[in-house]
Amino acid sequence: MADAPGTLPMIPDDVAAAALHGSFCPKMCTFACPVTEATGRDDAVPWSFHRTVSDLAQGRTTADAHAASHLEACTGCLACRVPCVFDQDVPAQVRAGRATVRDAGSPVAGTEDAVAAVADGRSPYGVDLPAGLDADATTGFDVVVVAGCRDDARDLDALRRILASAGRRTALVVPEGCCGGTLADLGAGPEATAAAARLGELLPPAPVVVATDPHCLPALRSTAGDGTRVLDTATALVQLVDEDALRFVSERTRVAFHDPCLLARGEDVTTPPRRLLAATGAVLVEPEGHGASTVCSGAGMALELVAPTDAAATADHRARQLGATGAPVVTACAGARRRLADAGLDVTDLATFLADRLVPEPPA
Ligand code: SF4
Ligand code: SF4
Repeated sequence: MADAPGTLPMIPDDVAAAALHGSFCPKMCTFACPVTEATGRDDAVPWSFHRTVSDLAQGRTTADAHAASHLEACTGCLACRVPCVFDQDVPAQVRAGRATVRDAGSPVAGTEDAVAAVADGRSPYGVDLPAGLDADATTGFDVVVVAGCRDDARDLDALRRILASAGRRTALVVPEGCCGGTLADLGAGPEATAAAARLGELLPPAPVVVATDPHCLPALRSTAGDGTRVLDTATALVQLVDEDALRFVSERTRVAFHDPCLLARGEDVTTPPRRLLAATGAVLVEPEGHGASTVCSGAGMALELVAPTDAAATADHRARQLGATGAPVVTACAGARRRLADAGLDVTDLATFLADRLVPEPPA
């Protein structure tokens, strides 16, 4: 923690250098930012984050509530990285800026409530964490599924049913509030590290860990032991299809897939969910903004805690694009599913969509 409000903040040199470099850019990626598009905030443009973080790093601005207010409106969607010829990581700069203002006593809105919730074993988002999901075995797991802090029990149980149908012994782990990812996004670094360490102690040994929410992947990769593969749900399940371990009832249902930003742009995972949907006979309808060009639902960087109105506007914008397809929507991110459902969209988690189409077990 910092000494006192207004002291010269500490931003890692590489982040400060990148932010300074970006602050000289003629805002070439502004068109790509979904928060700018949805809210019209002129401090939501990627360039504004470069400027705020660079000014903080050089002591040209005070790490106070005013600076914190200019570090709100980013969802971490990486859309600005696609057209950026400098490969700038804007969310990393926003995280560093948020950590700096928090250290100086002026956290971005929602941070301390989220920290307190996690310290109490609750989700930082105020969502009831799933309970009563027993493991299929006590040892010898093939897969550990780690719930996100916005998952619901139905979707987790669906994933467990799919894995059981493929003969995989599965453990289901619910973090004590947070894997650390959301806290890191809010700039609560020490608490994020502690949360990740607590989750590490809960993980039983297994060759594969599946994160049901792509926002948890970075934290889990730093937590899981060497030799453990940390995968998103779609990548894990498409491998089972390739092994002929999963069978689905074929139904020609029209569906639109909403690519979660961190899956499509952060992990380069766009084909596996489409192959899984195709394995059920689904007919894919592509919305405006799909694959690596997907448009954010507002679920990242804890935006719904920091600036709820901006998060809702971003979700509404995406829900309108998806709704224009006229097809029910499937996605593979608990946060995106909740944001889009709150915006009034008919949206289903990929695991639940697949589990509902499993070929029934023959009677014993
Ligand atoms: S990461 Fe996404 S929300 Fe954040 S500045 Fe870039 S485009 Fe905007
Ligand atoms: S992310 Fe790249 S293109 Fe966008 S403002 Fe920064 S340097 Fe310019």
